[in-house]
Amino acid sequence: MKFSPRVSSITPSSTLAITAKAKSLKAEGYDVIGLGAGEPDFNTPVHIIEAAYQSMTAGHTKYTPAGGMEALKQAISNKFKSDQGLSYGLTEIVVTSGAKHALALLFQTILNEDEEVIIPSPYWVSYPEQVKIAGGKPVVVEGQEENNFKLTPEQLEEAITENTKAMILNSPSNPTGVMYTKDELQALGNVCIRHNILIVSDEIYEKLIYDGAKHTSVAELSDELKEQTVIINGVSKSHSMTGWRIGYAAGNENIVKAMSTLASHTTSNPAVMAQYGAVAAYNDGHKSVEEMRRSFEARLDEVYESLINIPGFSCVKPQGAFYLFPNVKEAVVASIYETTDDWVAALLEKEKVAVVPGSGFGSPDNIRLSYATSLDQFKEALERIKRFVKNSTR
Ligand code: PMP
Ligand code: GLU
Repeated sequence: MKFSPRVSSITPSSTLAITAKAKSLKAEGYDVIGLGAGEPDFNTPVHIIEAAYQSMTAGHTKYTPAGGMEALKQAISNKFKSDQGLSYGLTEIVVTSGAKHALALLFQTILNEDEEVIIPSPYWVSYPEQVKIAGGKPVVVEGQEENNFKLTPEQLEEAITENTKAMILNSPSNPTGVMYTKDELQALGNVCIRHNILIVSDEIYEKLIYDGAKHTSVAELSDELKEQTVIINGVSKSHSMTGWRIGYAAGNENIVKAMSTLASHTTSNPAVMAQYGAVAAYNDGHKSVEEMRRSFEARLDEVYESLINIPGFSCVKPQGAFYLFPNVKEAVVASIYETTDDWVAALLEKEKVAVVPGSGFGSPDNIRLSYATSLDQFKEALERIKRFVKNSTR
């Protein structure tokens, strides 16, 4: 059967694929260390689980409005106000089945055939595919490692054409962990305002930041920029709720309304018990988030130094999220393998360490390691990688 051009043009998510592969090898009895997964290794805080359970026993097991229930939108609105000083009314918020779904609905809402979305690389694997599914055209602009992979206003200006509809900002970034400063955001925002380009600000790692870094949303910088921005966020990473599938978008009322309409004909509402869990997550004052954040910060400090000491590895130090994205070009060139993808496949086969190749993130000289795993496991993985580098030298 001939499939639609929408699916024929896309590739499976490499992050989910590597995670699934590591899990299946483990199930076969192999001693696999999975550094592929982009999910915290903690269980969801127990008060969130209890709130979801109690909502079900109280009979809240039915449909909610497709764009999410009022209590959750209110909790999200309160969070925007208290954490970021941003005012979003309930009609400016749509709750979705994970942040991924919010992005998918957004691109389907705003993109006309062949309209372009500027995506700075390295990018999260799903952005270009989601743009393509929506009939748009991803325009990748390569972030330079010397500039901590950050997009510059000049690069942005150069990439803009008459078909540019939107650009994506992801700070802290998956996969690099890099964060934009207020001034950098202002400069990029100015370009977007001048050319009337919508900013898609993916802030899913907002709470996982280290070394005293401060998260700023481009929407905080002025009313004009707020109007020009749709914020994407969710509880998956902040509250270790990846499997619950609760995300959201906040922005212009008409965009948000159209996204809810799309949801009403596709998924309907996100799972109701998960919505009750998310209400509890946002009404707890972020206590549980802070505990997890500290634990990631402690791990990062320990593992970063060991990683950059591996021969042929160099790495920009992340300020947020829970990934390391070293450049391994020298190690690959010195090895018996042709490409980073081959090198990554051999690492899994020979040493049973799963990492994600940078090619899926638009950066084929890098690999992504998630340190959302126990410190002992991570250290053991680094030992195995060192051994692999040594044994695979030409
Ligand atoms: N944006 C980024 C940058 C991500 O890394 C992820 C990964 N989960 C998402 C969005 C999607 O999050 P969710 O699991 O809530 O769909
Ligand atoms: N976002 C996470 C990652 O980058 C989870 C997997 C996915 O949804 O892509 O690994």
